[in-house]
Amino acid sequence: MSDIEQLVAQATAEFAGIGDAAALEQAKARYLGKSGSVTELMKGLGKLDPEQRKIAGVAINSAKERIESALIGRREALRHAALEAQLKTEALDITLPARGMPTGGLHPVTRTLERIEALFRSIGFDVADGPEIEDDFHNFTALNTPENHPARSMHDTFYLENAPGLLLRTHTSPIQVRYMETHKPPIRIIAPGRVYRVDSDATHSPMFHQVEGLWIDENVSFADLKGVFTDFLRNFFEKPDLRTRFRPSFFPFTEPSAEIDMSCVFCDGNGCRVCSHTGWLEIAGSGMVHPNVLKHVGIDSEKYIGFAFGMGPDRLAMLRYGVNDLRLFFDGDLRFLSQFR
Ligand SMILES: [Zn+2]
Repeated sequence: MSDIEQLVAQATAEFAGIGDAAALEQAKARYLGKSGSVTELMKGLGKLDPEQRKIAGVAINSAKERIESALIGRREALRHAALEAQLKTEALDITLPARGMPTGGLHPVTRTLERIEALFRSIGFDVADGPEIEDDFHNFTALNTPENHPARSMHDTFYLENAPGLLLRTHTSPIQVRYMETHKPPIRIIAPGRVYRVDSDATHSPMFHQVEGLWIDENVSFADLKGVFTDFLRNFFEKPDLRTRFRPSFFPFTEPSAEIDMSCVFCDGNGCRVCSHTGWLEIAGSGMVHPNVLKHVGIDSEKYIGFAFGMGPDRLAMLRYGVNDLRLFFDGDLRFLSQFR
């Protein structure tokens, strides 16, 4: 009998030391399988006399039950351990903070355009719009640009293939032409939008933005131009002491024409790297609208007069936000753009 008790103890110890289910089933076969130890003991019963067979049979059956019970207990323990391990790897950490919904923001150039529009609306200007694909008349001829002017060359202007006479507008001035064709003076508008030129480096992009302004009435003077534009710059940069200067220049569509400089917003005119130590930054072109432009759109140039100006909102955005490469605005890199949210 002690052999049987020893067998039970051995099986129980062996099962307890097994760490995976497949090995446990192999161990089970060694005790309870067709040629397992317990089965062999059962086979030996036939050789005993009836009295001994009865006692031995009870003992073997008891041993078999205890070995089976140990097996089932171990199976359950292994299954439980496997489940615990799985739960641990698949666990949800509900204490982690939520990711939240990312919020978008307006592009810095769009913000700048909206700021310019708001400032001009506040002094009674309307905002006009027009097509980006223009014809030669509205982009050049109506603006008093001679037939042989270099701006008309393929080196400067994108012309459309298979569409003679059509081009990507090189400035927003055609918006003003179209507006003057359909509206009678007094006219007070700004014309913001995208424009296109064959040009690409750190300060030039083949696509960029312009805002032009136009005021046509019976008594509009160069002094009004200086007042309106200087006031705009002071409000835009929030610098009440900002100064402007007007340098004589030439544009086909204005006479007289002037380049507008403003005192450097980084050094207040004292001279720094941004303004090449001059204290001034070029900011816009301007002038009194040429009588030929008024004639082209059917406005009496003897009765009406006006001024126009044009500036680059991309450059205004660069100066306002301290960005030194224009291309950053149009690369679409969110690491850059998200700083302006
Ligand atoms: Zn400066």
